[in-house]
Amino acid sequence: MSETAYIALGSNVGDRAAHVDAALRGLAATPGVRLSACSSLYETSAVGPEQPDYLNAVLVAQVEVEPAALLGRLRELERFSGRVRRERWGPRTLDLDLLLYGERVVDEPGLTVPHPELHRRRFVLEPLVEVAPWAVHPLLAHTMDELLRHLPPGGVLRCAPPPSLP
Ligand code: ADP
Ligand code: MG
Repeated sequence: MSETAYIALGSNVGDRAAHVDAALRGLAATPGVRLSACSSLYETSAVGPEQPDYLNAVLVAQVEVEPAALLGRLRELERFSGRVRRERWGPRTLDLDLLLYGERVVDEPGLTVPHPELHRRRFVLEPLVEVAPWAVHPLLAHTMDELLRHLPPGGVLRCAPPPSLP
């Protein structure tokens, strides 16, 4: 049985589009992961410390690996991009967050699903609503579309068409 996972991508260091592309290729090459869609690419202004604008997107995958194993692979792809962890919310070559794993709720050290910031971030919800407006947040019992409508406007600067899937 496969589950539908929603993964947020973000990059604001170096060749941002190339990092997003590498993440797509890395995930497509992962056993037990089948990419089915990617949102448009959103250019957004950073929250947190002063830093360059981000390129953000959300991708949809049919997965047969458990959430912890999927997160492990996401962290590995972050490392391959050359990401160095310095300050929290600091600039990064690649950030990959597991937003939703079907309607599964996970609360373990190092892994919280749904992602705890999901409903507060326009740079996550805008692309997520593009690919799955009807997806339900299992703890808040609202659809992604409803959650987005509760957020104040702002943050998204530009939007480019979705990259083609590998
Ligand atoms: P953020 O994505 O919040 O800007 P990081 O990428 O540095 O920050 O991640 C911080 C920690 O969040 C990681 O060590 C990771 O284990 C943890 N984490 C917990 N839940 C998740 C999740 N659903 N997706 C990604 N990381 C998560
Ligand atoms: Mg992260």
